[in-house]
Amino acid sequence: MPDNLPALAFERVTETYGSTIAVDAVSLEIARGAFVALVGTSGSGKSTLLKTINRLVEPSEGRVTIDGADIAAEPAPELRRRIGYVFQNIGLFPHMTIAENIAIGLRIAGRREDAKVGELLDLVDLPRDIAGRMPDALSGGQRQRVGIARALAPGAKLLLLDEAFGALDPVTRDALGTRIREVHDRLGLTTILVTHDMAEALLLADRVLVMKAGRIVADATPAELVAGKGGDDAQALVQVPRAQAERLQALVA
Ligand code: ADP
Ligand code: MG
Repeated sequence: MPDNLPALAFERVTETYGSTIAVDAVSLEIARGAFVALVGTSGSGKSTLLKTINRLVEPSEGRVTIDGADIAAEPAPELRRRIGYVFQNIGLFPHMTIAENIAIGLRIAGRREDAKVGELLDLVDLPRDIAGRMPDALSGGQRQRVGIARALAPGAKLLLLDEAFGALDPVTRDALGTRIREVHDRLGLTTILVTHDMAEALLLADRVLVMKAGRIVADATPAELVAGKGGDDAQALVQVPRAQAERLQALVA
């Protein structure tokens, strides 16, 4: 794969629903190996933009390329095998064991299952002995970890996370975010993390995109954002964790 091609590119991608412009002519390049956070208030178009990558949404206009190739040229099921996709409250099959749930992704890819399931459980920091359990015998955080293991099972190099930690308590959420970043680095993934939580974005990502009314209104590094750059929309979001940190600091001052 030529290194000069972006892992992912949006070329004037637009998606309209009736009179609603969910995504408005977004053009963007994402480098291989980047960990990008996509932040914005509810309804700003984050999920719609993310879904144009695995063709759960077909754009009204524009195109998406992966490694330079138009994704519309490839059958959607094949495309989706190369893309890990995890969303809030990801559904595991309730009548299948954890191992069987993870192996679904492997079977599709035609891989040997048993050893690989163990490796995938290690990857998401779950004990191997839960492989025989049923999903309802796991906590919400453990189930999300299984969902991530399943998403990565076919060997996906692109990982899309849509509010994947949204339903978790803050401690579990923080631990899982940190683990995802480690997995990203270890496997050399390209990751897009959709979140409404600017603190999470700043702490995990290399690059933060802010979305508003279907457009990307800021594109900056966490360090730039913390230094006050990136524009008013970005700073309004950065102000939330900043004010919280100041109030906590004031308690001990
Ligand atoms: P976010 O993920 O940032 O909360 P979404 O991408 O889900 O935002 O939604 C962007 C806009 O598009 C919203 O106004 C939403 O109501 C609208 N929208 C999203 N999906 C659909 C759909 N399937 N049909 C109609 N409108 C939709
Ligand atoms: Mg959403």
